[in-house]
Amino acid sequence: MQRYLSANRIYPVTSEPIDNGVLQISETGEIISILTAEEAAAQNIENIEQYEGVLVPGFVNTHCHLELSHLFNKIPEQTGLPAFVKAIVEQRAAADEVVVAAMDAADKQMFENGIVAVGDISNQLISKDVKQHSPLHYHTFVEVFGFNHPSQPIIEEAVKIRDSYWPLKASIVPHAPYSVAIELFQYIEKSTRPQDVISIHNQETLAENEFFEKGTGDFEAMYNRMGVPKSEAHGTGENAIRYHLPQLPRNRTLLVHNTFTGKADIDFAVAQHKDLYWCLCPNANVYIENNLPDVNLFFDPRVRVTLGTDSLASNHQLSILAEMQTLQQKKRVPFDKLLKWATINGAAFLGIANQFGSFEVGKTPGINLIELGDAKIIKSKNVKRLI
Ligand SMILES: [Zn+2]
Repeated sequence: MQRYLSANRIYPVTSEPIDNGVLQISETGEIISILTAEEAAAQNIENIEQYEGVLVPGFVNTHCHLELSHLFNKIPEQTGLPAFVKAIVEQRAAADEVVVAAMDAADKQMFENGIVAVGDISNQLISKDVKQHSPLHYHTFVEVFGFNHPSQPIIEEAVKIRDSYWPLKASIVPHAPYSVAIELFQYIEKSTRPQDVISIHNQETLAENEFFEKGTGDFEAMYNRMGVPKSEAHGTGENAIRYHLPQLPRNRTLLVHNTFTGKADIDFAVAQHKDLYWCLCPNANVYIENNLPDVNLFFDPRVRVTLGTDSLASNHQLSILAEMQTLQQKKRVPFDKLLKWATINGAAFLGIANQFGSFEVGKTPGINLIELGDAKIIKSKNVKRLI
C-alpha cells in the first residue's frame, strides 16, 4: 500500500525545503514522488497522513563503537582522553552475553533515534550477528593498533576479521596516530583494497598534538607506563595530523573528532589528501574532554563534515539529533548545515548515497519526524520514526 506523508515542512536535503509538502512512498519506504502542497491539492489525494513538525531523511552515524556498548555509565566523565583510554582498557572485559545484549540494545536505540546507517569501529567479530539481523546498514571498520609489536600478525588477524564480516562491508583502519607505528601504517596500506573506506581518530586531545610536536605530556607518560619506547615520530616539531595523514591510503577517508584541529591543519590536510571527510562527535568530546572543536573552521567549503555518536562508553545516548542539538546550542550551527552533516554527507562518505541521505525519487532513506521551533531551533531529542 502506498502512503502519503505530510508535515509542516519537508527537508529533502539535496533540494529546497517545502512547506506543507507531501511525500509519496511505496510499502517499502521508497520515495515515489515529492509534491508541493499545490501539486498534492491538484491531485485530490485522499488519506494524507498529516504530522506536526518537520520531515527529514534518516540519519547517518559515521562513528560508533557497538563493542563498547556495555560500558554505558561506567566510565567517569571529563577526565581527558588518556585517562579515558586507560579506563576502557581496564573495564572492557566482559562475558560475551553481556556484550551482545548491550550491542543489541544499542542497535535498537539507534533505530528508534532515526538512524539508518552506521560506520562502526570493531576490534573483533562479535558484532557481526547483531549487524546482520539489524534493519540498519552497517559498515565495519576493523581497527588495528600497535606501538612496537611486530605488525604482520596484527594485520593477518585483521584481514581474517575483515573477511569474516562478509557479506557485510568491512575495511581495515588505524586506531589513532599515537597508537599506530610507522610499520603498521605500511601494512594497513598494503591490505587496503580500492573499494575500502578508511577512518582514523584525529587530534582528539591536546596531548596528542603535544606528543608528536614535543615528545612530552600525557602520551609520553602512557608510553612509559606500557614500557614502549618513543620513536623518531615523536618530538618532531610537527603535530599529529602531519604524522598520520601522509601514511594513509589515498582511499576515501574519515578524520574523526578533530577537537584540536586548527586552520593550518585543514589547509595541510586538503592539500595532502583529495578525498577527506571530517566527523564531529560533540557529545563524546564534552563527555571525555569537556571541549568542542572550533566548529567555524569546518564551515570551509573545502571541508565535508559528518556526525558521529562515538560509543555508549562516552555518550549518554546514540542519537545524531542529540549531536545536532549540542552543536546548535553550543556553537550556533544553522539547522540546514547540521542536517546536511547528519544525512547526505555521511551517506556519501559510506558510499551509500544512492539509497540514503536525502529525499529523492528512488531512494529508501528512512523518514523521521522531528520538532523544530522558531528560527529552526531543535526543540527536543525526540524522533518519531515514520519509516
Ligand atoms: Zn571512537
